[in-house]
Amino acid sequence: MSNLLALQTALNARATAAMGEAGGARRGCPLSDLRDRLRRAGLRPTRQRLSLGWLLFGRGDRHLTAEMLYDEAMRAKVPVSLATVYNTLHQFTEAGLLRQLALDGSKAYFDTNPSEHHHFFLEEEGQVLDMPDCGITVESLPDAPEGMEIAGVEVIVRLRRRSGHRQA
Ligand SMILES: [Zn+2]
Repeated sequence: MSNLLALQTALNARATAAMGEAGGARRGCPLSDLRDRLRRAGLRPTRQRLSLGWLLFGRGDRHLTAEMLYDEAMRAKVPVSLATVYNTLHQFTEAGLLRQLALDGSKAYFDTNPSEHHHFFLEEEGQVLDMPDCGITVESLPDAPEGMEIAGVEVIVRLRRRSGHRQA
């Protein structure tokens, strides 16, 4: 009985997987997804863009500085210069694949989720966290100046550890 159940489960799983392949176009091939995504954004999928895009977009929503991505590229043995990392991040941002966050005057952070959302910023650690969807409502915004309209609102809530909760 339990063997039969196991077999049934396995068959169901296989059927689901097969349907998934037929349904989602080339799901399970993230590299070709990335190539398509770059092309759709108007960027030629060069080897460097693919390598850096792979590091950037392969692990969910993230917030990175150029230096952080450069360190990851070095660890992954991707042969790029810091200048190339900067250029690529700015190209991706202009193409709408990334969003640049104004958190810290000295460093630019890039968000792999370009849709509008709000952030917590842990100032001491330089760490960026997405705020939960229901985290904030912005009411009573001032009227935009003559001839302007509000294109978006970004909220950054700056955090520090309470005294007595400092990291050792
Ligand atoms: Zn974010």
